[in-house]
Amino acid sequence: MRFLSTRGQTPALGFSDAVATGLAPDGGLFLPERLPDFSGDLGRFERLNYAELCFEFLRVFATDIPADTLRAIVTQSYTRFDHPEIAPLKPLAKNLYVLELFHGPTLAFKDFALQLLGNLYAHQCQVRKETINVLGATSGDTGAAAIHGLIGRPGTAIFILYPDGRVSPLQERQMACTGAGNVFALAVDGTFDDAQAALKEIFADQAFRTRHRLSAVNSINLARVLAQCVYYLYAWLKLPASERGNVEFVVPTGNFGNVLAGWMLQKMGVPIRGFRVATNQNDILYRLFTTGEYRVGDVQPSLAPSMDIQVASNFERFIYFAVGRDPAKVRQVMATFKQTGAYQFENFNRDTFTASRTSDAEIAAIIARVYRDYGYVADPHTACGFKELNSDRVNIVLSTASPAKFPDTIKSAIGLEPKHPSLEALKSRPIVKHRIKATPDAIRAFIDARAV
Ligand SMILES: *Cc1c(COP(=O)(O)O)cnc(C)c1O
Repeated sequence: MRFLSTRGQTPALGFSDAVATGLAPDGGLFLPERLPDFSGDLGRFERLNYAELCFEFLRVFATDIPADTLRAIVTQSYTRFDHPEIAPLKPLAKNLYVLELFHGPTLAFKDFALQLLGNLYAHQCQVRKETINVLGATSGDTGAAAIHGLIGRPGTAIFILYPDGRVSPLQERQMACTGAGNVFALAVDGTFDDAQAALKEIFADQAFRTRHRLSAVNSINLARVLAQCVYYLYAWLKLPASERGNVEFVVPTGNFGNVLAGWMLQKMGVPIRGFRVATNQNDILYRLFTTGEYRVGDVQPSLAPSMDIQVASNFERFIYFAVGRDPAKVRQVMATFKQTGAYQFENFNRDTFTASRTSDAEIAAIIARVYRDYGYVADPHTACGFKELNSDRVNIVLSTASPAKFPDTIKSAIGLEPKHPSLEALKSRPIVKHRIKATPDAIRAFIDARAV
């Protein structure tokens, strides 16, 4: 299978090249040239375990990787989860389930994609007999998940920038207490935006990029979206047949990567009724799906920090479909948005999406209510999903992080402090972080000295 850019000015690439490239050179995002139809395979898929299902799904896309190799990569990617089901679907009440996506090494759903991406990178290194240096900036979960995807992998090094003092102490420990020689946690003197700006400049430096075979870790990689389709399929297959035709997935949303994966799966012949985009107070997507206007706002830090974004980088993939797969139209929408900070869609087709918005005050109240009504402890991101449920549907709320990652918010909501053994273990390990100025020169010098 080949992959096209949403902006139509990049030649089609095979799977491995599209994954290695990340962002297309024309500024667009890669999508499969056609969406396969799995409707005839669902019966056969029912009997598979998580890793087998993931392999059967991905093999249709990753046609340039030999099947046995792909199977090994996929199997390896789900060995470090602490639940035998990998993505357990738990019933809470009639017509209400929670899909727990936090059983990976960093206790958030990003492990599903980044464990796989780490193994795909390592595989590329082997095939091409090259090393790779991965660079990214994070406000928390993505950096930790990316690090744990590459920890100790020969031929790789990973450099993650984060704003010093502005990520949660546990998130910092997940990045800075690995003890791995190929992991560099760079605590930047500045904000997340400062780190991001320095990073942009470094990636624009072609000579530096080429010299270190530098690859970006961010939320737009094609492999991340495809890996995330699989847990929607897995959850759907776990339901009693009588409920499968009436499912609405409720998805705590920031960059639109997670919910986009579910929606693409629906377009691949899996009969899902709809999706609810659950935002926190940073509500650009809520406003879009209720008014048809996509307008950037200021980011307000919230109790659900991994959803604190105002420009949803994966949204361009939805736009591509929404404008009838016309790359010229995508370029026009994105250019207008870049210039004016807004785009008003005419006759906006919201497809099967609905949206909700949850304030910080509501998050605390919802955590308390969900605990009282179902005996379930939801993390602050997942809590946004419980804001309102659709009584006409079978609701599956995606739980994107373990409550143990946010002990203070949970404790003040329900009086209990959730704990997780892997986080407790981190507390006794030394923090190894490198304080660094948020300038391209300082970061380049650091990488020059440590790159593989
Ligand atoms: C990243 C993240 C989200 C948002 O996911 P998107 O793909 O950006 O929509 C939600 N919850 C948690 C815990 C996350 O880490």
